Amino acid sequence: MQIIDGKATAAAIKQEIADSVKQLIAEGHRRPCLAAILVGHDGGSETYVHNKVMACEACGFDSRLIRFEDTVSQAELLACIDSLNADDGVDGFIVQLPLPAHIDKTRVIEAIRPEKDVDGFHPVNVGRLAIGLPGFISATPLGILTLLRRYGIDTKGKECVILGRSNIVGKPLSQLMMQKGYGDTTVTVCHSHSSDIAATCRRADILIAAIGRPGFVTADMVKPGAVVIDVGTTRVPDAGRKSGFRLSGDVCFDEVAPLCSYITPVPGGVGPMTICMLMLNTLAAARHEYYD
Ligand code: NAP
Repeated sequence: MQIIDGKATAAAIKQEIADSVKQLIAEGHRRPCLAAILVGHDGGSETYVHNKVMACEACGFDSRLIRFEDTVSQAELLACIDSLNADDGVDGFIVQLPLPAHIDKTRVIEAIRPEKDVDGFHPVNVGRLAIGLPGFISATPLGILTLLRRYGIDTKGKECVILGRSNIVGKPLSQLMMQKGYGDTTVTVCHSHSSDIAATCRRADILIAAIGRPGFVTADMVKPGAVVIDVGTTRVPDAGRKSGFRLSGDVCFDEVAPLCSYITPVPGGVGPMTICMLMLNTLAAARHEYYD
């Protein structure tokens, strides 16, 4: 069994991005610039955005953080998006989710120009992925495929079972793992209405859990030799930690790991790759790789 080290892989990719940025600058371009809109003071969102700003620094990008209180109106938020859409100094931007209940998340995502939608959430980018056209791919799915590739794991023709069908992980991941020239796997997606999930999981050569249910995947659900990717990151109370919580994956790591050929830990697996892929998408935006 080999542990897939997302932290080390992400660090190596960030170094490659930083090298590409040096080259861009040597060719006379400005630094790539990522902007982030953060609404409110949710602890998780604050941490994610902070980590994104730090990753920008590590990659040699400029970054901008635009903050709003959670009382911000939808009109104000949309006006900010319009100005970032028009700003030639910003290559890509994200609106950190979740948003307060009075804001229509779909309208916000649809307001972002697809050319600057480095999160890959805009329907145009989602649609381009679905029909195999180049575009921004949602960072977590892209990070998972990148991990598989970097570890030389052959996916072509394999049975891939994905637990979860969210718009940001499960659905784009199923497209990516199925897509010709990308995953090339045969994909099954399970969700809260799926029956006999354990039996479905046992068919998987590649099992990817993204449901946010700590310890859901147990040893009896895993085919010996399978590759197991754990996307779940749930904060569970832990009085022994300074933060008061620890991150728990969807997989019972201790009992599942001995069965696997490869497995990602939580933390240190998929998580670090997600931010890294956001950086890669921003570099692609700065280079106008997908849109002229
Ligand atoms: P989400 O929007 O809450 O979606 C969860 C999905 O899991 C839904 O499709 C739901 O089914 C399904 N589900 C929930 N309970 C289930 C059960 N008991 N059996 C079968 N299916 C079940 O979550 P998400 O945003 O995709 O995130 C999933 C997990 O990944 C969370 O722990 C999140 O924190 C983590 N995450 C990690 C990263 C990272 O970078 N590491 C990035 C994103 C998310 P229905 O559709 O039927 O409701």
